[in-house]
Amino acid sequence: MPTPPIDSEKPALYSNPPDDTSEQYDVVVVGASFAGLTFASVAATRGLRVLVVERDPVVGGVVRTTGILFSDVFDVMEVPQRFLMNSVRRLNMRASEGDTKPVEIGAGAYRFYMADVTGMLQWMAEQAEGHGVTVRCGAIFQDATRQPDGLMRVTYAHAHAGTAKGDEDADAASPNGSMGVTTVRARFLIGADGTRSRVAQKMELDQNTHVLAGAEWLVENVALDRETFYLIFDAKLAPGYCMWLAPHNDIVALGVAGRQREFKPIESLKIAQTLFGGVTDLSQMRIVERKGGNIPIGGRLKRVYRDDEKGRVLLLGDAAGLCGAATGGGIYPALISGKLAAQAVASELLNGTPGAVKAYQRHLMQAGGLGPYLRVEDWIRFVLDRMGSNADWSALLGIFASPQGHALLQSALFETPIIGMDSNFFGMVRNVLGQHPSVYGAALRMAWRRITARA
Ligand SMILES: Cc1cc2nc3c(=O)[nH]c(=O)nc-3n(C[C@H](O)[C@H](O)[C@H](O)COP(=O)(O)OP(=O)(O)OC[C@H]3O[C@@H](n4cnc5c(N)ncnc54)[C@H](O)[C@@H]3O)c2cc1C
Repeated sequence: MPTPPIDSEKPALYSNPPDDTSEQYDVVVVGASFAGLTFASVAATRGLRVLVVERDPVVGGVVRTTGILFSDVFDVMEVPQRFLMNSVRRLNMRASEGDTKPVEIGAGAYRFYMADVTGMLQWMAEQAEGHGVTVRCGAIFQDATRQPDGLMRVTYAHAHAGTAKGDEDADAASPNGSMGVTTVRARFLIGADGTRSRVAQKMELDQNTHVLAGAEWLVENVALDRETFYLIFDAKLAPGYCMWLAPHNDIVALGVAGRQREFKPIESLKIAQTLFGGVTDLSQMRIVERKGGNIPIGGRLKRVYRDDEKGRVLLLGDAAGLCGAATGGGIYPALISGKLAAQAVASELLNGTPGAVKAYQRHLMQAGGLGPYLRVEDWIRFVLDRMGSNADWSALLGIFASPQGHALLQSALFETPIIGMDSNFFGMVRNVLGQHPSVYGAALRMAWRRITARA
């Protein structure tokens, strides 16, 4: 697909200095994933000229996520049914050791969906291109500087110029694999380039420091029901998170995540093959795809925007630490931040509304229940990081096996929309802890340590 030409009908918002012939845009977005593509589509719809640069050769070509969507995502975006592969009704959880039985919660209504991430991102890129966005793949952001005229000079390296679907002539364009460097100019730079954001690093904004490493194999030759997710918790094999076995369309995803550098993901996946033996036979499995990536778990970053002599730049999605610190659910926050930031940047650039981006930052946490959701996730992360042994995991799952704990989990995961989390969730936690005085005491001690550690 050829790169669409820049729409000459749109107003020119900048002027070229006579000696600079580089392409000009209102906004350059780094990263063609959930946050970047949402931003680009909405910004272009509002009248901005947008370039998206993506380092992968094809949008969605390298999938780093499991792709579970909470149903809340549909409040932000109408995802076509064809990208929703499995609808999930049940979660089955157990500790890898100890004699606690698995805890299973479920619901009649579907709450989670396993998405076809490649298909969905390609569709999002097509939508963005349809609104006039230029998507350039195989383009790796290098650096950006602000010039005296106020515009950002953005450089990216590329092996070839690809579009959202890649470039069939890529080899011909770059027969020896050499990299070229291109410079473009823009009024605003968006860093939607994920957990290890180079934009954040180059623009001296906050960067994620607490990170989970995740690895996942898509495997065939495994029989699994299409509506249940199976989780196993083990303090050594998946420190601070878990191993999972999940339906992925007609095949199966076997995955693990844990605090980076505290475990070996591939070793854990090999052992998980045996641990999930009670669920299904994985001895004949064949790996058809391997995924891996990082999940930010340190919470929302503070300094994600600047507009000064160094640059005019805003971070979104994972790059801004906008990810559920406990579950690693980051697609919902990425979509919300992309959508709202685009409206703010458009207001600032097109209407000349000063402070629109700062207002976006102030109000983001009120949108779609994002603030309470991230807060609840931060607190659960605090607990997960204290699961030092498999005995701790057994004890925690023991609470969720009790009627009150079961009801809490059921309500939190299957019945409470993200937008309603605050009032419900904290009240429910208080009730359950009240039924387990020893855990209540431990929770209070933990909370106290957290407060004093911050002071
Ligand atoms: C193993 C794993 C499983 C996960 N499972 C789920 C899940 O089931 N549900 C859920 O909600 N969340 C999940 N997450 C989290 C979720 O994937 C992220 O929160 C979400 O993808 C964030 O979107 P984003 O657009 O901010 O960044 P990303 O999706 O990380 O996209 C960043 C984009 O920027 C590009 N990029 C990076 N550097 C450059 C550069 N220098 N130049 C150009 N482009 C660049 C990347 O190639 C990528 O396309 C998971 C994460 C991992 C790692």
